[in-house]
Amino acid sequence: MSTPNGGAHGPPWPAQQPRAVIIGIDGGDWGPIRSLIDRGKMPALARLIDEGVSADLRSLDTLLSPRIWTSIATGKLPIKHGIWGFHCTRGDLRAKRVWDIVREAGGSVGVFQWMATWPPEMDDAFCVPCAPLSPDGRTNPPSLGFLNQLHSMGRRQYSSGGVMLRTGVSVAWNALLSGARLGTLVEIASLLLHRPSRRDGDRLAWYARARCAQTRLNADLLTRLLRRRPPTILAMLISETDMVQHKTWGAGASGDGCPDGEWGDLVEQQYIRADASIGRVLGALPSDATVVVVSDHGFQAESSVRWVHVGRLLDLLQLKGRVEAARPGMGTVYLRPAVDDSGGASVTLDSLREWLERLWITPADTPLFTIDAKPDEIVAHCAAEAWGSAEALGQTVEFRGADRSLPLEELLVEGSPWRGTHRDTGIMVLRGPAFRRGEALADAPLGPRHRANAPPRFGPAGRR
Ligand SMILES: [Zn+2]
Repeated sequence: MSTPNGGAHGPPWPAQQPRAVIIGIDGGDWGPIRSLIDRGKMPALARLIDEGVSADLRSLDTLLSPRIWTSIATGKLPIKHGIWGFHCTRGDLRAKRVWDIVREAGGSVGVFQWMATWPPEMDDAFCVPCAPLSPDGRTNPPSLGFLNQLHSMGRRQYSSGGVMLRTGVSVAWNALLSGARLGTLVEIASLLLHRPSRRDGDRLAWYARARCAQTRLNADLLTRLLRRRPPTILAMLISETDMVQHKTWGAGASGDGCPDGEWGDLVEQQYIRADASIGRVLGALPSDATVVVVSDHGFQAESSVRWVHVGRLLDLLQLKGRVEAARPGMGTVYLRPAVDDSGGASVTLDSLREWLERLWITPADTPLFTIDAKPDEIVAHCAAEAWGSAEALGQTVEFRGADRSLPLEELLVEGSPWRGTHRDTGIMVLRGPAFRRGEALADAPLGPRHRANAPPRFGPAGRR
């Protein structure tokens, strides 16, 4: 029998020392990172790059974060690991993540903010699921349940204002007991006490500052956990980088793939905080620990000002509740039949495809979508005719054969709430005994479409 952390018959894990760490930066992109490293503003990541190897990460072709993070953790595609979208929980998981294998071998596991990890594993060293995706705020240890409350408070302050003082005091007290530094709490309190004005710029800046504060708080809590409950393997995710880039990236983009100006500054502040977190985690590790820093995708400016209203699309097809739909970008929708309690679906993939192909723009006389059918879902791209041209608006989308229709501008809604969107190139940095110092990998493909390629080549040493 094996015991965690190396008991009498356990494996040779040195107790009290993490051996491997996976650090996820959601939406981490080399554009802003290289620029910040060149100016000395991301010293922790710069050190890892110098001491290890780095590469572009080529992501999967469906850029939905929970899927990709689970593919990174399991080494499997969604069809095998079972995590499709933001609604999925650990109950949907059908493959072992790398830390499940470590646990089976007698190691201990720490998971912090990783997606699709709710409900938390209560027997692990710690497991704190990604707060925005947690239905009930459960955490291991349970004392970190206040993270969920804090998340709701922030959302409320951003949208309507009005934070309950009593909740605020209780959250602050619990945070303090769990390792939050006083400076972090002051930063959070000042945000919760000063509601953003209605001006778009104020709201964006408030939002970005709140995400920065969250990253700092997470680092406080995680470093305390690493001291008190050191796991053999740690998987942590910094998801605030993605949120801030969605809101601000394209607002001041210069067109070279890097945000600039006032909004670019908000993006940079977020990366600087992410780097500080990495630095603090590295400080808790032995120098020969294996460190993987990876992102699920990169970022680019969102060019479209219109987005597909998924609720109205499902209404038009009369498929609400029978089909799951996700819209990671503006003009693309992922659809798959919803599985009911008995494990079956009331819609087949073929009929779903056929219905989507019957959506027709009139009088332009073109289909609304071009359809990309996968073995287990449909990717519907809005046809360029519907998307780009002003004259397409004022037209009607007809569901042919069903006698239902909708004005095109009600389906393609103007006024994007997002300015940045995902691109398929992310980052990867590896440091540890198995990696040659200073090398740059040619690329690090995630998906099967790259499997035919030769194994990654080592390029000239140096920073990327
Ligand atoms: Zn995103």
